Amino acid sequence: MKLHEYQSKQYFAKFGIPIPKGRVAATAVEAKTIAEELGSRVVIKSQVLVGGRGKAGGIRLAKTPEEAQEVATQILAMEIKGLPVRKVLVDEASSISQEIYLGITNDRAERKPVMMASAAGGVDIEEVARTHPEKIIKVHIDPLLGLKDFQARDIAAGIDLPREHWRMFGQIAHGLWQAYCASDSTLAEINPLVITSDNHLLALDGKIVLDDNALFRHCDLAEMRDLDAEVDSEIEARKYGLSFIKLDGSIGCMVNGAGLAMTTMDIIKLFGGEPANFLDIGGGAGAEKVAAALRIILSDSNVKAVLFNVFGGITRCDEVARGILEAMDEVKVEVPMVVRLVGTNAEEGRQILADANMITAETLADAAHKAVAAASVQA
Ligand code: GDP
Ligand code: MN
Repeated sequence: MKLHEYQSKQYFAKFGIPIPKGRVAATAVEAKTIAEELGSRVVIKSQVLVGGRGKAGGIRLAKTPEEAQEVATQILAMEIKGLPVRKVLVDEASSISQEIYLGITNDRAERKPVMMASAAGGVDIEEVARTHPEKIIKVHIDPLLGLKDFQARDIAAGIDLPREHWRMFGQIAHGLWQAYCASDSTLAEINPLVITSDNHLLALDGKIVLDDNALFRHCDLAEMRDLDAEVDSEIEARKYGLSFIKLDGSIGCMVNGAGLAMTTMDIIKLFGGEPANFLDIGGGAGAEKVAAALRIILSDSNVKAVLFNVFGGITRCDEVARGILEAMDEVKVEVPMVVRLVGTNAEEGRQILADANMITAETLADAAHKAVAAASVQA
């Protein structure tokens, strides 16, 4: 689960990280009021759960409260990467002399959290990571010892931070580490952490990604979930306990098992197609769950074909087949469906689907090939 920028920054502030003054608004009139209260130039920032808002025009400065209202009106009417903007953060504007990146995430290979920093912060840290990986300083943190002072100093030195800021930078780095631990995050990030033109450090942007598996012990954070800001299909999937991630391709995938789901996506790409989603219906999924999954896949108008790849272990192929039929009763299926069933009760499963006008496949390669061909005919 992701927190919005305003939520992340408020959380960071509890751990001593300096953030700009400001508040969130749902209407342009509120934005104007906040700008009046702040009595300074403001920055109006769209609150959507995707990065790159700046580049998309979702972050703009305003000199007067009237201008703040006008800009807020425009931003509140925007859609950024398919997500409608429903709230804006109105912050006191800062003048920036340098933008720094500072973040913590899990390094699975090292089995440790890693703090990363770069003097080339601001937008597009991914681009920096690709083209100039040496500009990103990484320090692994021992989870038992926590972030040590010398590590924070090493990072400050590594990004050539002027000495006068090291104390404050240390405080911010420790605050970020504490925020990361206290919230059970998988990512806590400040991008940019700026040096203002009057020489202060300030967290202008904030991002927290919480570990869903630990949410049960963070009721206060779980309550911040903003359903309005999430993709409908992902909300629906969560209700049924399905692991679903919407993607941009044209082939809907229904698979049991995360590893098999990833393999299926890879092989679709290998045959020249693009998956429309990642979906793991899980072990032992019954007909009802399968029906829900199919509904969710077909609600995406990009989907031109559906590929079922089911390995019947605990999940029985005949159950899955019945689920597919059940779903086809409810949802109108207008795209070709390719099925590959192997394992427990596969024969019964195929029998059930034999009359349902579905394309059957023997191997995964065969299935991917047929799905890609079917999708390109439809497109
Ligand atoms: P993101 O694009 O979604 O990561 O949004 P950010 O909050 O990081 O803002 C993007 C960029 O907008 C920053 O890197 C800054 O360059 C700029 N920006 C954000 N807030 C301010 C501000 O208060 N003053 C100025 N001058 N620029 C800002
Ligand atoms: Mn940012």
